[in-house]
Amino acid sequence: MTDVTATHARPIEYSFEFFPPKSEEATAGWWRAVEALSAYDPAFVSVTYGAGASSQAPTFDAVKRLIDETDLVTASHLTVVNATSGEVDAVIRRFRDAGVKRFVALRGDAPDGVGAAYRPHPGGYENAAALVVGLKAIDDFDISVSAYPEKHPESADRAADIAMLKAKAENGADRALTQFFFDNDVFEDYLNDVLRAGVTIPVLPGIMPVQNLNQLRRFAAMCGASIPDFLERRLGGLADDPAAHFEVAADIAAEQVLDLQKRGISEFHFYTMNRSRLQIAVFERLGLKPAARARGNVAREAGFAEERLGRTG
Ligand code: FAD
Repeated sequence: MTDVTATHARPIEYSFEFFPPKSEEATAGWWRAVEALSAYDPAFVSVTYGAGASSQAPTFDAVKRLIDETDLVTASHLTVVNATSGEVDAVIRRFRDAGVKRFVALRGDAPDGVGAAYRPHPGGYENAAALVVGLKAIDDFDISVSAYPEKHPESADRAADIAMLKAKAENGADRALTQFFFDNDVFEDYLNDVLRAGVTIPVLPGIMPVQNLNQLRRFAAMCGASIPDFLERRLGGLADDPAAHFEVAADIAAEQVLDLQKRGISEFHFYTMNRSRLQIAVFERLGLKPAARARGNVAREAGFAEERLGRTG
């Protein structure tokens, strides 16, 4: 393990992103991850949302369980794909009535898949900036939006991309969460351009501890993120050695966070992939420990112990 232990005392804040589990087994694994990670006292957690009405139920169930059974501040992602604004508004009201006060407001991808031309639903919200307006018209929600340090694949250029971020901020977004990236110079450069454009909301870097390099290559190709050579070099030969892959992946994510901290960043959004072990390994390298106060019950502690013993996650 590389010695990347944090030597500074400046605290960081972080949020965790989950996706809604789709089977009984996946639900059990997700919940163990929620229990283990909640001990680290995140600023908030969020649950992703698919495209179209069929994605409402799994997200709703996951978000409702988080609200009902934990004291975690919980945000629901929301997309506008394939729905009229009236249908989206009905979803917003249903989530609000279940206790949701925070949303991650997104346009979403074209129903024909990432890369296909996106056409707004006739009578629907045109993009995420319009959705922010729709959310604010219903209630004073806390709203996060997306940001793309390497540009969204559909944006003509960085200026167009940042113009969209600015519109979302001006419409009432509270913060932006970025797509994952691995080159901190790219992020710093982007942030400078964002500030120059007059966007003042916080832009939280999205950090993806690498569970699986092949899967990451697929995600990166879809969303226009790049995988730097150093990452291929360090992880590329470790597909058959999961233990070594785990250690190096934790080192890489911790090094990225520490370097961003040196550049003045103190809030982070982690893509957990519904797993806790790698995230906890990253935290160990950052010198972060579970919060002292007990958040949960015996079941939660049992789940946490199991995770630490490496049986799950
Ligand atoms: P927008 O911010 O509305 O637009 C993205 C970019 O496309 C803009 O920068 C803009 O330049 C360009 N653009 C948009 N509309 C137009 C237009 N009319 N003309 C020209 N250019 C345009 N996807 C999911 O399905 N579910 C999720 O839960 C989810 N969560 C995410 C969380 C985060 C933190 C991030 C970064 C992404 C997430 N995504 C999710 C992926 C996201 O849905 C896709 O990247 C989608 O393609 C764009 O959605 P958006 O909200 O970023 O779009």
